[in-house]
Amino acid sequence: MARYTGSVCRLCRREGCKLFLKGDKCYGANCAFSKRQTPPGEHGQARQRKMSEYGMQLREKQKAKRAYGVLEKQFHGYFEIASNQKGITGENLLIMLEKRLDNVVYRAGFGSSRAMARQLVRHGHVRVNGKKVNIPSYIVDVNDVITIREKSAESEYFKTMREGTTKVVPKWLELDSANLKATVVSAPAREDIDLTIQENLIVELYSR
Ligand code: SF4
Repeated sequence: MARYTGSVCRLCRREGCKLFLKGDKCYGANCAFSKRQTPPGEHGQARQRKMSEYGMQLREKQKAKRAYGVLEKQFHGYFEIASNQKGITGENLLIMLEKRLDNVVYRAGFGSSRAMARQLVRHGHVRVNGKKVNIPSYIVDVNDVITIREKSAESEYFKTMREGTTKVVPKWLELDSANLKATVVSAPAREDIDLTIQENLIVELYSR
């Protein structure tokens, strides 16, 4: 399936929750979902009927995929890995998504959205333990240090960030904003993930 190129705010309305796909706009009064919460389309309002069990499971999967910007095949691959790990499959799945490098760059505040963070990684602005990593799906480990390439750090965008950021980082990350450096101090836990996803429904969907 091709990557979605339409309005991302429609995706929030479709999933019935904020997916935080537009950076700062998501936190302001101009958030499209805050203004209108009905599904998109001409018959959006009329479409609000009781959903089947399958429908609910499907929506939760779509929500997670869209929030993290992952395509179907890759998402299913994550599920396969998660189900072979110890612990609760649904939690393993979300934790793995949370540990993707593009998400870590977003969580550290280097990118205002996951899409922007993904671009920063792809364009070679990000270093992991001093080495260039341009793969957004790279999975970070505890003690990994994520930094911004020296030359990129001189840009206006990063200069402003170095002067002080109000971004609150999750407790599994330690941010040194003056040096544009984020350290993974522990693995993320389920409670650190602030998206309203019912991961058990995703597991049920793939177990059908
Ligand atoms: Fe758009 Fe962000 Fe609001 Fe979603 S949360 S509707 S992406 S502004």
